Amino acid sequence: TPILEVRDLHVRVEDKDILKGVNLVLPPGEVHAIMGRNGSGKSTLSYVLAGKEDYEITGGDILLDGESILEMEPDERAAAGLFLAFQYPVEVPGVATMTFLKAAINAQRKARGEAEVTTPEFMRLVKDAGSRLNIDSAMLKRPLNVGFSGGEKKRAEILQMELLQPKLCVMDETDSGLDIDALQVVANGVNSMRSSERSMLVITHYQRLLNHIVPDVVHVFSDGKVVESGDKSLALELEAKGYAAYEKDVA
Ligand code: ADP
Ligand code: MG
Ligand code: MG
Repeated sequence: TPILEVRDLHVRVEDKDILKGVNLVLPPGEVHAIMGRNGSGKSTLSYVLAGKEDYEITGGDILLDGESILEMEPDERAAAGLFLAFQYPVEVPGVATMTFLKAAINAQRKARGEAEVTTPEFMRLVKDAGSRLNIDSAMLKRPLNVGFSGGEKKRAEILQMELLQPKLCVMDETDSGLDIDALQVVANGVNSMRSSERSMLVITHYQRLLNHIVPDVVHVFSDGKVVESGDKSLALELEAKGYAAYEKDVA
């Protein structure tokens, strides 16, 4: 069973058709990249996967591990193993990063009908994950994302991912202008979390991110659908030829 299957997905936003028949299959263990010009609908796809309101699904289906998630709330999707990282992480003033992470684990456990994480267990989990990811414990005492550098935001995000151990990670990095530090953090984090049971969808505008996260498959997105798929060399071709070459094929 694929971890993620998107079947002929059509989505409308404010009476405008944005996604026009998206098809994607992510087998376990694979990392897929989606590239496409600004406005092609990439972020819309990630919001729809997350279950954000205001997106009207007018056709198709989204299956996580073989089960439709369309009727699930965002927290249920997270409990089912979906993790989304967005280009603009929310700042949470007044809540220490540690507290936020603990709440995230407990939300997942609650939705799964499991007992809350105890404080000693949580401390151990954070210590282990933090040392694997090279995270300074002082950062975890500060409010989440408030005044964080780009790299620190990405560290907090990857740590959250490591603690939740999702089946599917979707990262929308479009237009985010990651600096070198942040790019390394994302790449190292994603690479360290690659596993035969997990799939990742990396949405990006930048070919350079894919020098660090080498995808199994690259999809080109245009006008609300996938218009071309290939191996990692497609990302380089795309950079050399530009998106128009692929869009013309379709027109
Ligand atoms: P990308 O991430 O590829 O740049 P988006 O998914 O952000 O593309 O946007 C795709 C299209 O959907 C754009 O034309 C954008 O203007 C439109 N769009 C996205 N969100 C909304 C919204 N909330 N209301 C109206 N139009 C939207
Ligand atoms: Mg955009
Ligand atoms: Mg976008």
